[in-house]
Amino acid sequence: MPDPGNQDTEGQDTKGQPDIASAAFFGLCPRCGARTLFDGVAKFAPRCRACALDLAQFNVGDGPAAFLTLIVGAVVAVLAIWLQLSVEPPFWVHALLWIPFTTALVIGGLRIAKAWLLGAEYRRRAGEGRIKDE
Ligand SMILES: [Zn+2]
Repeated sequence: MPDPGNQDTEGQDTKGQPDIASAAFFGLCPRCGARTLFDGVAKFAPRCRACALDLAQFNVGDGPAAFLTLIVGAVVAVLAIWLQLSVEPPFWVHALLWIPFTTALVIGGLRIAKAWLLGAEYRRRAGEGRIKDE
């Protein structure tokens, strides 16, 4: 969804820009809003297939990965302990439940975190460019 509040001052380059939250959640290109940001499970495409924005220039890095693993680890540990104390399931229930759950949470969280960072970086650069143009 475009943000109606900042359309008056923006040029053609930022037309159709998705807001950063939906861009992060759905893996949208920060410039054109096409769903082209990801090439693999949590890997960026080298460039946008719709508007040819060079995505390789944004070096988001693996900074969010360690942070995210800590959060996911804490969440899963709390849930596993809670399940053990309340239901006392056999061990294989834990294995069956937490391995896919953890994987999904890490991959999903990583996609959102990386897309969010890329979107923020794109906007920051666009903002700097606008200021210099004036
Ligand atoms: Zn694009």
